[in-house]
Amino acid sequence: MDFVCDDAFLERYSRHILLPEVGVAGQLRIRRAKVLVVGAGGLGSPAALYLAAAGVGVLGVADADVVDLSNLQRQILHATPDIGAPKVASAARRIRALNPDVEVVTHAQYLTAANIADVVSRYDFVVEGVDNFPSKYLVNDACVLAGVPFSMGGILQFVGQTMTVLPGETACYRCVMGEPPTGKIPTCASAGVFGAIAGMLGSIQAAEALKHITGAGRPLLDALLCFDAAAMDFMKSPVRRDPACRVCGAHGDIRTLSDVAGPVCAGARRACAPDAPKTP
Ligand SMILES: [Zn+2]
Repeated sequence: MDFVCDDAFLERYSRHILLPEVGVAGQLRIRRAKVLVVGAGGLGSPAALYLAAAGVGVLGVADADVVDLSNLQRQILHATPDIGAPKVASAARRIRALNPDVEVVTHAQYLTAANIADVVSRYDFVVEGVDNFPSKYLVNDACVLAGVPFSMGGILQFVGQTMTVLPGETACYRCVMGEPPTGKIPTCASAGVFGAIAGMLGSIQAAEALKHITGAGRPLLDALLCFDAAAMDFMKSPVRRDPACRVCGAHGDIRTLSDVAGPVCAGARRACAPDAPKTP
């Protein structure tokens, strides 16, 4: 690569470089990293902004929607003049303005069983920030089968939950949640979401991506982090791989991708009760 570690690099990223856990070597790893954010919405917005600010070399943004007025309460990649524009267009504009070091790759398409494997396999880490369960399971399955580490995230009302997955090594979303839910499920559109918690959870996901890239700290593996911002309670519950998991189990039957049936629904699937995650 022709990149030169010049004064501007050292100054822009000085607060990272000062951290012993990151340093110049870690910042150069960030510079070489390719991260995909699936969904340029409530979670993808803060995640993409912090990844861009951190200087991720290639930042992919996948979203097929256009900006709606009701998005602006929490989707901070987008601004009022962007209403009606493709979300990937406003995202790319905002990311480039924040940090021209970042190469933005836009995927203005719905990720489906037919195309998602090709997309995720181009990246080192995936941040999942989609608003419906079929897509969550599709991202999980695609990343597990492709061996790409990823962060799952969900929010609803005042509650957020997230976990990080190293495919083949730690519990995946299916291990913890089982089969996709059926029936009517509350959505952010029907039940509401406290806007700032999108920032809380998406920022956690960006931090997980940057920890994975740099090796700093300990990632949120084999654990489900839940918070209830109404009481500002945080809880980390251990989870385990399910030997019978359909995608990461030794005898799993999901070896090729198919679009997951189920209600289009949003957010954190389970409340932050002590017994919330399904542990095998
Ligand atoms: Zn699994």
